[in-house]
Formats: sequence, C-alpha cells, structure tokens
Amino acid sequence: MASPLNTPSDPAVPMPVAFIGHGSPMNAIEDNTYHWQWRLLGERLPRPRAILCVSAHWQAQGVRVTGASHPSTIHDFFGFPQALFDVQYPAPGDAKLARRVVELLGGHKLAHVDATRGLDHGAWSVLRAMYPAADVPVVQLSIDTTMPGGHHYELAKQLAPLRDEGVLVLGSGNIVHNLALFDWRNQRPLDWAIRFDGAVKRRIGAREHIELADWPRMGADAHLAIPTPEHYLPLLYVLALQRDGDRARFFNEEVLGSLSMTSVVISAGNAVAASTPPARA
Ligand code: ZN
Repeated sequence: MASPLNTPSDPAVPMPVAFIGHGSPMNAIEDNTYHWQWRLLGERLPRPRAILCVSAHWQAQGVRVTGASHPSTIHDFFGFPQALFDVQYPAPGDAKLARRVVELLGGHKLAHVDATRGLDHGAWSVLRAMYPAADVPVVQLSIDTTMPGGHHYELAKQLAPLRDEGVLVLGSGNIVHNLALFDWRNQRPLDWAIRFDGAVKRRIGAREHIELADWPRMGADAHLAIPTPEHYLPLLYVLALQRDGDRARFFNEEVLGSLSMTSVVISAGNAVAASTPPARA
C-alpha cells in the first residue's frame, strides 16, 4: 500500500536518494514542469530528518561540509532578474550532521567542516520547490573536480549509513550540461545530447555504475555532454548509495538543446508514495 504523503521516514526502510537535473536557476521561481515535479517529489518522499546536498556549484579542494547553523542563500549567478536575487532559502543547518559526514569520510584526511559557507543555487533552487517551508535542515558537501569519477563514487559509498539515519542524500547537477553549445533561442534537443542522456539512463537501469563513473570512456558523446565534470559528479554520489533491491525511477526526462533535465530517484520498493511523481494536472 502506498504510504501517505510526506510521512516521517520509517527507520526500517532506508531513505531514498535522488539526483535532480536542476538546469536554469530560473526553475527556482518559474511556474514550470520541473519546479512542479520537484514539489511533488518533496511531497512523496518520506519526510527526511535532514538533507545532505551534493551540488555542482560547490567545488573545492578536498572535502568540505557546511556547518553553519543558519547557512546563507548564495546567489552564485549573474544576468538573471532581480526576483531571483531576492530569493532567500532560510533552512537551518545541522552541525551535528556535518560532523557525522566528516566522521563517515574519516578515511579522507582533507574532510572538514566549513562554518561559513552557505547554500548555493544548485541546492536551494531545487529545495525551495521540494520543501517550500524551509523547515528541513540542509547540509552541503563540496566536490573536488580535480579527482576522477571513481574517487567520487568510492567516497560516496562511505555515506551509506545516512540512509538509515533519516537523511536524504540529494545530488543536484545535470547529466548533459554543455552551456557553450546551448542556444537559448533554439532548445531543440541535439542528437548527441539525446544519445548520451539515453545511454546514461540505460546504464543506470543496468546498474553499470563503474562504467558511469568512468564516463570519459563512454565515447565522443560523453565528451560533449560533460565538458567539465561538476554537473555530472553529483549523480555518482547518488548511484553509489544504491542498494540491492533498490529501484531507479526517472522523471523530468527532457533534453533542452545541450542540457538534460533527467532526474532519478533510487529507493526500496515501498519507500516513495508514488512510483514516479505524476505529471502536473
Ligand atoms: Zn548548475
């Protein structure tokens, strides 16, 4: 039987994990399909005790974890309407969770808590839709883009206990993200972008994680889709937390020019209230 919407997480059922294709920062405030799907996802997931977000937009050497009790809202973009700069996402932090993450990553000598860093738009643009009351504590984890995919995949595995502790691990990036080739006036999906998005979905379905972590070997389409790795790497953190018996469900499966909005929720069969967020009525 489907569980009621937004029930507290059941300690016997591990929290789902999710990768969100975030796309334009405007999705934070626009009344569009992506924003609605994120909202519906927030309603259908078990209510997390806290969120650990791995966003494309916090790149740092080593591993850093936000530890502020009230992380600021970072407007890390330019050329957008004032309404976007006016957005605040006042979710509390969770210093205890930050310390727990560093503890779990204990094998990584460079892991430490950053007491001043706020939340970037990769985090708040999605969370604003998923949890509009900003009442779920949020901690962010940085990514070191100088390290290969396999490093990130193995690092993320150490976070596995969080799923049993009521923490929602949320990756925020884009599977296909080539802004140099993006044309705002013509968002017809490019052939290679469709192919790569499809190839990644098939490999997620087949649990070919090692191949996905080694994306430079996935051919020419991969190099076009991932000119720089920061938007792709958050996906590896989510895949690394998949357990035997978990299912992957896709939503927002759309390619806009050289950008893919494809998103995926990975969960035990009975952990999400609906099999996928339904389309907006
Ligand atoms: Zn982005």
